[in-house]
Amino acid sequence: MSAAQEVLKKLDAQTEWQEELYIHLHKHPELSMQEVETAAEITRRLESYGYDVQQIGGGVVGVMKNGEGPTVLFRADIDALPVEEATGLPYRSEVPGVMHACGHDFHITAGLGAAKLLAESRDLWAGTYIALFQPAEETAEGAQSMVDDGLVEKVPRPDVALGQHVLVAPVSGKVGTIAGPMLSTAANIKVTVYGKGSHGSMPHLGIDPVVLASSIVMRLQGIVAREISPFKFAVVTVGSLQAGTKSNIIPDRAVLLLNIRAYDMEVRDHMIASIERIVKAECEASGSPKPPEIELYEMFPLTNNDAEVTAKVTAALKEALGEDRVVPLDPITASEDFSNIPNAFGIPYCYWGFGGFAEGQQTYPNHNPAFGPVLQPTLRTGTEAAVAGVLAYLGKDN
Ligand code: ZN
Ligand code: ZN
Repeated sequence: MSAAQEVLKKLDAQTEWQEELYIHLHKHPELSMQEVETAAEITRRLESYGYDVQQIGGGVVGVMKNGEGPTVLFRADIDALPVEEATGLPYRSEVPGVMHACGHDFHITAGLGAAKLLAESRDLWAGTYIALFQPAEETAEGAQSMVDDGLVEKVPRPDVALGQHVLVAPVSGKVGTIAGPMLSTAANIKVTVYGKGSHGSMPHLGIDPVVLASSIVMRLQGIVAREISPFKFAVVTVGSLQAGTKSNIIPDRAVLLLNIRAYDMEVRDHMIASIERIVKAECEASGSPKPPEIELYEMFPLTNNDAEVTAKVTAALKEALGEDRVVPLDPITASEDFSNIPNAFGIPYCYWGFGGFAEGQQTYPNHNPAFGPVLQPTLRTGTEAAVAGVLAYLGKDN
């Protein structure tokens, strides 16, 4: 029997408190960079398990040194979203307009469950375990905030970083892994273009930023269609276009909010350069009186799973959970800031998914107000996967 299987024998004994904690967290979600109570709860629990605990950049890190061996960091994100819950669950959010609509409450509870199991099973593993709880994943600020607050200097250097997310697929009870790009890199871009205001009846006396912005929107479609290889994944979306106040006033500016995605940093950089080129050229073409402003914000890195780490973790998951519960995952177009943490240390990583919806259950995507994964076996699976992934490196049977 593997170390993970031995450790997981104790899982049944903690089902009750884990379910209670999950329900408590689900009822009391906190928005990004405001996870005060959540962080306090995590701190209290990690300390009671015997971890050396620090609050870093809005997050919480527990370190447990257990003799000679590798160092593994496992990350869970902890923030909720500005969404009004519509799941109809008996334990729905008690905070108006705020909801754990991305399932980070599962990540916290599974992360704490794994931390407690490992603390109680020190005879079965050796090395250093770092349980990291990160704020503000949804705004792409949290990982960077912990790095900026000295994470790299404040904890032992890990050999590998691991993380996971509850997903719509596979079915609850199963785990999915993929080597290489798993989640896209994303950037948000605010573009402000300038025209010259005029009366709606006298367009010849103004420079119309609405026409200018419209040309930009259409021209941007050519980036993916004509500039990026058909074999590469790329998305350019204009999610917001705002200008003017009244039908008979030509305004003096327009603001566009763009979102781009790619599985390749070169493709991403190409898209950013093309957007700048097109925006500047269209402003020039319109005779814009002032250069455009182009501002990048909420930048998500690429989540690109290391092949070797993924193979090792996948084998460990299969051994601990059974072959039939571990399936291959397809890349997902969403994004994560998880990799900012391993990237800051310069270490490889693996990020996997675990299912949240039962067979035949109506599914809703993450961030949907009706996103309501089944509590079990989702929570149990997240905990099992965390233990198995960590012990792939720290288990004494390695
Ligand atoms: Zn999310
Ligand atoms: Zn999420």
